[in-house]
Amino acid sequence: MIVMKFGGTSVEDAVAIRRAADIVKARLADRPVVVVSAMAKVTDQLLAAGRAAANGDRDQALAISAGLRDRHLRTAAELLGPSQHSVGAPSKPSSGLGGGVPSPLQKLQSEFDVLFNRLDELLRGVVAVAELSPRTTDFVSGFGEVLNSIQVTAAFQAAGLDAGHIDSREVIVTDATHTRAVPDFEETEKRLQTRLKALLDQKRVPVMGGFIGATSEGVATTIGRGGSDFSAAIVGAALDAQRIEIWTDVDGMMTTDPNLCPGARRIKVISFNEAAELAYFGAKVLHPATIMPAVRKNIPVYILNSRNPSCEGTCITSQAPRSKNLFKAIAAKKRITIIDLVATRMLMAHGFLRDIFEVFDRHRIPVDVVSTSEVSVSVTVDTTDAIEAIAADLAKLADVQHEGHKAIVCIVGENIRMTPGVAGKVFGAIGDHNVRMISQGASEINITFVIEEDEVPAVVRRLHDTFFTEVDPEVFA
Ligand code: ASP
Ligand code: MG
Repeated sequence: MIVMKFGGTSVEDAVAIRRAADIVKARLADRPVVVVSAMAKVTDQLLAAGRAAANGDRDQALAISAGLRDRHLRTAAELLGPSQHSVGAPSKPSSGLGGGVPSPLQKLQSEFDVLFNRLDELLRGVVAVAELSPRTTDFVSGFGEVLNSIQVTAAFQAAGLDAGHIDSREVIVTDATHTRAVPDFEETEKRLQTRLKALLDQKRVPVMGGFIGATSEGVATTIGRGGSDFSAAIVGAALDAQRIEIWTDVDGMMTTDPNLCPGARRIKVISFNEAAELAYFGAKVLHPATIMPAVRKNIPVYILNSRNPSCEGTCITSQAPRSKNLFKAIAAKKRITIIDLVATRMLMAHGFLRDIFEVFDRHRIPVDVVSTSEVSVSVTVDTTDAIEAIAADLAKLADVQHEGHKAIVCIVGENIRMTPGVAGKVFGAIGDHNVRMISQGASEINITFVIEEDEVPAVVRRLHDTFFTEVDPEVFA
């Protein structure tokens, strides 16, 4: 079997959902299990409704909910409305009065009505208590997947697929760490195997929502934003899938940002470790940590484009084949601030680094690149409004200077590990551009350095021209 996960933009409207149905149809022989996200932007809107309610803005909260109800009902009508019945389909028009069997559209509409009534009731409750707990947040934010998994199941059936809905809250069992709940893999695996195999054995196509689960007591949870990829990996690992397909709206991972470098190539195959290094820069595609369950079981994960399904995408594997190119990709991240710290009294007294990192921790600001000398430490952080406050706290420990408008450039490839003189080649290629910090991660598969923000296009192009003008056709398209 395989897992096919469709992200928000790949199920954003009726057209996209029909396209997904066609993509699934073409793979029926592989026995697909389908995992779907909420329709694009729905999760954000649900969370906004929850926040509005918590702030006492009842009208705003209910208006957002009404907008979502309208969008779902409209999409449902487009997918299942009278004009959608194929010739000969059992589309008994029913008024719903004379005890006639409700049409698939009527059934879906009434399910939506029940769910949206429940959501509205909940939002009113949040207004009343003026508080949105993590537990309630999960209940609200998970609605998008609940709704869309039901909708996609109905749409697939209308498209002639024998789809069967699985309620993820009955199979994905998690702890109660709301908004980023941790799955109980053992119990989840058991339930997935029982429920999914039953459908697969009948040659049916299970459809389930990503992102959502429930505690063993049945309290709704979510497993973190963007969590549908994680859901897909959990399902794939539980059923020993041949592969997991992440259907999105790009052709896959690229050697660099095509906006910076028109000559950017698609990466056909990349190792999990390489993809993980790039995640911080290209998180748009997928966060590799979320596919860990698949990687652990050696299941390849494909990034595919639902708007260009014939493109073979990018395959992420635990062990990518050796490439003739030294690197796999170059990534850059702008809006970086460097903070330079010089120890004042005791040169690097023990505890100095801990004290420094405690400051960042307290401000909840992640540190990216770190480099140290005997008397100084430089770190980079994403530029934020909090810089001044952080600097003030750090000034109690060290002489502090900070400078914005920097960028991190990261060049990644498993081959770095076994090639001598790589740093020389990289810094030779960028010529006389000034480099502020250099670091090579413990994984030894990346070289990371910090430059002036406005030099990013020039530096990335130079690197790309040097290392990707000729590419290994096995690894790059
Ligand atoms: N809908 C959820 C989110 O937007 C989960 C996902 O799409 O992966 O975070
Ligand atoms: Mg996503």
